[in-house]
Amino acid sequence: MYEEVHKNIFLIRVPLPNNPLKATNSYFIRGDSHDLLIDTGFMGVPECREALDTAMEELKSDPARRDVLLTHMHADHAGLAGVYCGEDRHIYMNITDIGYMNMYFSGDVDEAMLRRYRKEGVPEELNQAVNARFRKGKEKLKLDPRYNGLTHGSVVECGDYSLRLISVPGHCPGNSMFYISNEKIMFTGDHILFDISPNITCFPFIRDSLGNYINSLARSYRYDVKTAFPGHRESGDYSKRISELLHHHRSRLDEVLRIIHEMPGSSAYEIASYMQWRIHARNWETFPIMQKYFALGECLAHIDYLTNRSQIFCRSEDGKRKYYPA
Ligand SMILES: [Zn+2]
Repeated sequence: MYEEVHKNIFLIRVPLPNNPLKATNSYFIRGDSHDLLIDTGFMGVPECREALDTAMEELKSDPARRDVLLTHMHADHAGLAGVYCGEDRHIYMNITDIGYMNMYFSGDVDEAMLRRYRKEGVPEELNQAVNARFRKGKEKLKLDPRYNGLTHGSVVECGDYSLRLISVPGHCPGNSMFYISNEKIMFTGDHILFDISPNITCFPFIRDSLGNYINSLARSYRYDVKTAFPGHRESGDYSKRISELLHHHRSRLDEVLRIIHEMPGSSAYEIASYMQWRIHARNWETFPIMQKYFALGECLAHIDYLTNRSQIFCRSEDGKRKYYPA
C-alpha cells in the first residue's frame, strides 16, 4: 500500500477509480513532534479513504499529531485534507489557492465561467451538466480554520526536513511545489508530471493561465533536483521533463494557430473539436462530458495565450466569440 521512497518519506498511491490519472500520489513524512501528509484524495470516493486509512494505520501515524500540506486546491489532492489533519493541527496551502477557493465557494467562479462558456459557443446542455457536477463537488469540499496560507519561500518543517514553497502558478492559480534543498528533492504536485502532461485550463479572473504555466516552467529549471516526487504516476528526469513540457505546449500553440488560420471565424468550442486529443473516444461527439470540458478548458488556455500576444484576435458576432488570425 505504501513504500519508503526516501528516509522517513513514504509514497501512498491513493486510487482514483474510473479516472485516467489512476491514482493520486500522497506522501507521508514521519517527523519527531508531528507528521506531515502531502496531498490526499477525493472526498466521497471510498477507495481513497480505504487506502489512506490503511496506510496511516500501518505507518502508526497519530491523527492528533498530523499536519497536511497541499500542492494545490484540486479535489483529487485537497478533498480529504480535513479528514486526515489533526483537530488542532494545520492544513498548509498557498494563500492564492485559499483565496481562489473562497471565490469558488461564493459562486463567483462558476458564474463567470458559465458566462464565458456561453460566449465561446459551448452548447447549453454541456454547460448545465458541468455546472451540476461542480455544484455536487462543492458540497463535499470545505475550508476550515485549520487552513494556513503560505507564500513563495514559506518553509514547513517536519523531522529532518525543511520544505520550501515554490510558487508555480499555471495548473492552478496558487499551484505550488515543495523543495527540500539539502536533499535535492522536489515535490512537484501537478506542475510537472512525467508520463502525462498536466492539464492547463482557463480560470475565470486569471488572464493567461498558459502564459503563467510556461513562465513557471522556465523558472523551475533553476532548482537543482535529483529526485522529483510528482502528484500522479511515475517520476523521471526533472530538467528533461521541463523541456518536454515546454515543447509540448509550443506544438499545441502551433496546432491552435494552424486551425485558426485554416478555419477563421471558428468558435473556441469548434477549435477544441478540431484539435487532436489522446482519449479513448471515437470522435468529439462521443467524448465523456468531463473530458470534453477539460479539452475545452485547455483549448481556451491556448487561445488566451495567443490572444494576449496578439497572434490571434476575437470578434463578437451575435454575442458569440469568433477567432481570427492577426
Ligand atoms: Zn491532480
